[in-house]
Amino acid sequence: MPSQSTLFVFSDLDDTLFQTERKCPSQGIHRPAAVDRQGQTLSYFTAEQGVLLTLIEQGTVIPVTGRNTAALERVHMSFNSYRITSHGALITGADGNPDEEWLIMLQAQQAIWAERMEYALKVIARTIERNEWALRCRIIEDQGWPVYVSVKGDERDLASLRTTALALWCENGARIHSNGQNMALLPAFADKERAVRFLMRRIRDTGIEPLFLGLGDSVTDMPFLRLCHYAITPRGSQIHASWT
Ligand SMILES: [Mg+2]
Repeated sequence: MPSQSTLFVFSDLDDTLFQTERKCPSQGIHRPAAVDRQGQTLSYFTAEQGVLLTLIEQGTVIPVTGRNTAALERVHMSFNSYRITSHGALITGADGNPDEEWLIMLQAQQAIWAERMEYALKVIARTIERNEWALRCRIIEDQGWPVYVSVKGDERDLASLRTTALALWCENGARIHSNGQNMALLPAFADKERAVRFLMRRIRDTGIEPLFLGLGDSVTDMPFLRLCHYAITPRGSQIHASWT
């Protein structure tokens, strides 16, 4: 049996460990999980998620989330190791500061992508306006670094935007995350799989034989889940729905 210290859990957060009230089952008691910018509770843990949390917190939980650092701080969970934020764009240590080795790679890629993100934002904003879609878009920053273009709003309008977004964005390793009311245009450096691989190597380099557990709900989580010894996805998730 491995000792407890060898369990490392790479976990997506939203729609995996908790969700907004709208997506919670109507029955049961739900515990607050995260607040919005105004401090109002926005997301909740179900009772089952509470049990799952107790299980995984026996190991080291490393969030692998689309949230940036500021949004991660609005989650009612305490993380005492690495954090992967902004869809894998940034890795921070237990002290909350960006990992220095990772930061060097991020800095090298920023120059190439910052301009592309600005351009994509302009085109998308214009497309939204012209079609009068119920969508809003902006560039998300993480600790001062522009990390991805976020588009949020009506699911049908997001689906209509998809063709434009794909043609505009998907080259040179850039990808699009889309699930429900969220779309993110991800530069090549915002890559959960790459960030998890980086930390797995870092953990293995310490000489321990870890057990890696992965949790995620989105199809874009699958590449990092595949790196883990075991993977967990919630019932009804986008991944679950993709099983045939
Ligand atoms: Mg998720």
